[in-house]
Amino acid sequence: MSKFVFVTGGVCSGLGKGITASSIALLLKAKGYKVFMQKFDPYMNVDPGTMSPIQHGEVFVTADGCETDLDLGHYERFIDEELNYTSNITNGKIYSSVIEKERRGDFLGATIQIVPHISNEIKHKIYEAAKTSGADIVITEIGGTVGDIESSVMMESLRQFRLEQKKENTLFVHTTLVPYLYGSNELKTKPTQNSLIELRRLGIQPDIIVTRAPFDLGSHVKEKISLFGSVPQENIIEAKDVKNIYELPINFHKQNMEEIILKQFELKITKSNLTDWVELLKKVNNLKNEIKIAVVGKYVELEDAYLSVKEALKAAGYLYETKISIEWIDSELLERNEEEKWTLLKQAKGILVPGGFGSRGVEGKILACQYARENKIPYFGICLGMQIAVIEFARHVCKIENASSKEFDAICKEPIIDLMMEQKTIMNKGGTLRLGNYACELKKDTLAQKIYKQQNILERHRHRYEFNNQYRQSLEEKGMIFSGINPENNLVEIIELPHDMHPYFIACQFHPEFKSRPTSAHPLFQAFIKASIENK
Ligand code: GLN
Repeated sequence: MSKFVFVTGGVCSGLGKGITASSIALLLKAKGYKVFMQKFDPYMNVDPGTMSPIQHGEVFVTADGCETDLDLGHYERFIDEELNYTSNITNGKIYSSVIEKERRGDFLGATIQIVPHISNEIKHKIYEAAKTSGADIVITEIGGTVGDIESSVMMESLRQFRLEQKKENTLFVHTTLVPYLYGSNELKTKPTQNSLIELRRLGIQPDIIVTRAPFDLGSHVKEKISLFGSVPQENIIEAKDVKNIYELPINFHKQNMEEIILKQFELKITKSNLTDWVELLKKVNNLKNEIKIAVVGKYVELEDAYLSVKEALKAAGYLYETKISIEWIDSELLERNEEEKWTLLKQAKGILVPGGFGSRGVEGKILACQYARENKIPYFGICLGMQIAVIEFARHVCKIENASSKEFDAICKEPIIDLMMEQKTIMNKGGTLRLGNYACELKKDTLAQKIYKQQNILERHRHRYEFNNQYRQSLEEKGMIFSGINPENNLVEIIELPHDMHPYFIACQFHPEFKSRPTSAHPLFQAFIKASIENK
């Protein structure tokens, strides 16, 4: 039998609900409990795969190939567990599965209604996550803000869930904002009070209130929130602004958050093992050096669009006591020859070109890659960053002038990057990319093998196009090494340049950032940061 923690949010978005949920899970895991995490998103898309990263931030991909909300990245980084298809549920998923059942005749005779059909389906998804994971405690975060029309059925399902499971098996955490008003110079509790009223109107009484505030609340403010929220003072957990999100679990731990939860669940209160996390914080707070890394992309106005890349770079920096200062460079501005952006690129110790879709900004990325290759600056290409690296090499080294990708130019004469046979007949855009874990075999005595220190690896994918093997020989003749190959279908997974051509140049078709953890940076990020530090 699992226990269930539900995390809701009030007042406004962006309070750090995802980090709160992750911290709770981390603390419970540190007590020796098996945890699993899940996020409900109240939008009608079946998954975020077709949304623009500028609107919604990065699409995170699970090992089993689900395109999910970026909060799942936080979850995996905090609890260091692989999540799966039961971990991200949207209104779109819920509605389509209910409608599919209706068409199949599962409800013959019935009128299909929001309550009970939709609400039952939501509860079913929570039970399914508990069952498939076998977790002691499932932590479910509800996206959006309490009071949103979109999430109201989800809230209704949680109300019913407590009725079914009783208080000793369910626990509600409500995160709110306690803003500071300059002028009157005080923390204001009214927004919190209002969001608690809204929550109770939906039939939910929280057990813990997490307050986001710029300062300590002080006993007076705490008393007030406790009174209006009907929550004992010790169950008000302060989430004071932190410099680094990784501090939050420790701050919660100091306020006994996990013990309050275990007590309500009537579970044994064991000793916490937070050694790794405390170690991590020590490193994060003692960075001695700093280097500049250029990330050249086209969604750079929203750093969240590359959240996992950013976290993976930072994590690799921790290993070398180095703060990674990222220069986010818009590739379109390189294309337009904006001097300021070129100066930033030239100041960087390493250049990373991350994933991306569509033709906008591609030529700017190719210019950045050419600059890195010709000037022997460490280069790390991820997914689209690998595709443009081979295009650049084909054009400028192999003199295949028209080299391009069918994605950017459907009638391209030299399609170095092309669609696989099975992709050619796919019409639907949603959920049809090459997604999730695929195997890759590393070639002996290559940079890739030296970095991974093993022969066979598994990495997560999210792309439609592939390197066109017809060009492999021409590129090899000019020195490019194809160091990682999928053993089942011979697709190219990793390319690199030999040491006598370039000190550090490697790119992969998959997304290593999804497997990186703050406590154990991904080998490819480690090696890239090491090479960038060594780049004088
Ligand atoms: N647009 C490219 C493709 O679909 C690369 C995708 C990516 O970078 N994630 O193959």
